[in-house]
Amino acid sequence: MAEAATKNKQGPVNELDLTKIDGNGDFPCPKCGITISPEDESEDVYIIVEEKVNNDALEELVIQCNKCGCQIRLTGFPALEM
Ligand SMILES: [Zn+2]
Repeated sequence: MAEAATKNKQGPVNELDLTKIDGNGDFPCPKCGITISPEDESEDVYIIVEEKVNNDALEELVIQCNKCGCQIRLTGFPALEM
């Protein structure tokens, strides 16, 4: 469907803007559909591959789904600031 934005050759990285997610921030893996919760730090469902921090605020997070192995780039963290 929405493949227009994927231009890099590093493989399929799905981008996800957390500001566009309703509810508590949980979202389904775009590939296998498993529910991923950013607050789940158990590493059962996903692992953190890369973290980008700017001025003590989490700016970007690349995670990898443990079930299907796809990588998801999370953006939009400043909006979740509490
Ligand atoms: Zn998955």
